[in-house]
Amino acid sequence: MKNRKILLTEQEVPEFWYNILADMPNKPLPPLHPGTREPIGPEALAPLFPMELIKQEVSTDKWVPIPDAVRDVYTLWRPTPLYRAYALEKALDTPAKIYYKYEGVSPAGSHKPNTAVPQAYYNQQEGVKRITTETGAGQWGSALAFACNLFGIECEVYMVKISYDHKPYRKMMMNTWGAKVYASPTDHTQAGRMILAQDPNSPGSLGIAISEAVERAASDENTKYALGSVLNHVLMHQTVIGQEALKQMEKAGDMPDIVVAPFGGGSNFAGIAFPFLRLNFEEGRNIRCIAAEPSSCPKLTRGVFRYDFGDTVGMTPLLPMYTLGHNFVPAPIHAGGLRYHGAGVIVSQLLKDRLIEARAHEQLECFESGVLFARTEGIIPAPEATHALATVVQEAQRCKEEGVSRTILFNLCGHGHFDLKAYEDYFEGKLVSHEVTQGEIEASLAQLDTPLIG
Ligand SMILES: *Cc1c(COP(=O)(O)O)cnc(C)c1O
Repeated sequence: MKNRKILLTEQEVPEFWYNILADMPNKPLPPLHPGTREPIGPEALAPLFPMELIKQEVSTDKWVPIPDAVRDVYTLWRPTPLYRAYALEKALDTPAKIYYKYEGVSPAGSHKPNTAVPQAYYNQQEGVKRITTETGAGQWGSALAFACNLFGIECEVYMVKISYDHKPYRKMMMNTWGAKVYASPTDHTQAGRMILAQDPNSPGSLGIAISEAVERAASDENTKYALGSVLNHVLMHQTVIGQEALKQMEKAGDMPDIVVAPFGGGSNFAGIAFPFLRLNFEEGRNIRCIAAEPSSCPKLTRGVFRYDFGDTVGMTPLLPMYTLGHNFVPAPIHAGGLRYHGAGVIVSQLLKDRLIEARAHEQLECFESGVLFARTEGIIPAPEATHALATVVQEAQRCKEEGVSRTILFNLCGHGHFDLKAYEDYFEGKLVSHEVTQGEIEASLAQLDTPLIG
């Protein structure tokens, strides 16, 4: 019998999150106040986040303990399985060894609960009554709805309108866990009204939805805000993925040469890659970590590294990151979770320092790889995850061409059971190739008056 599935026991759920800030050769530049454009300290975040998360956001402690109450909830689905993709390898006729970590076994069906649970927990500890957030495809909203429900906190979700219309079942999931869900832009925030005045048919974007959720939290003292990606503490919470995967690879007697994950704001990429980058820092290994993004929203491969807002309206602090400009509205591709204009600060600095790599894929190529995966390994990947698969297929084909075997690990960050409309569109030939033009990128960047770096 082949050893297809590598499992850990509940006792092996990590006891610490790994904070890569402690090991980075160049620390990220500080965030700037959106108005004064001066560096801000952690206290500026106090209206939006509980103190413990703010501390984690700026912490340089290498290991941050995971509270028992959080580990206890993690064991509902963690440790997640690691699989060797024998059938995919065979179909690709490649000498490469391919492994995947499957985060789709969580209640919400993606990696997002890894951070939703600790975020809800720390808010509860500090007496917060309500959490607002944005959601793209609905994965983050459903993860936060699930977590808030466990800790008795109200949850209010601003869902990007195009996804709200295309993905009604995600909304129902959130409702089942007790959350209120609104199609963003709405007319009950200033930010939403401003966008609707410019374009009553706006499909929405993550940037717009963030503006709405932040505005709600900033204007009520019992309400805080939660972000499902981009921020340092979110990336750190996700490192349970890579720590488990590292143990599982060791159990399999193997070690990846290449680690791949899809990239929206950077959280699932960080989650799987950072614990392996730690080995590069500590032991001088040379594990290549590749972030896979859509060519219709290519901030890592075609964006610029400069200060920009996290949202569309310009309410968040300015962050030093790879960005396409905060006014960039990506084409309505099906990988909703990857339609974000910017990238997390840590991941941006790592890319700037060439410690990680990035690659863009066009959505038809992604679905082709996704369907191949479903037909070989069985699991139907989330559209986001198919971007990682496109990179994996390329790397596996390279191994074949070069006649070398490399070990490839990728993060299968979620299943696609609520995204079958996307598969239907693909099978009916309705999905189009979409690559943003240089003119579109330049037009968006030309609108930025935010500080340049270096
Ligand atoms: C949210 C999401 C993403 C993108 O966000 P990251 O922070 O980059 O991980 C990718 N895949 C799935 C399944 C998601 O839910």
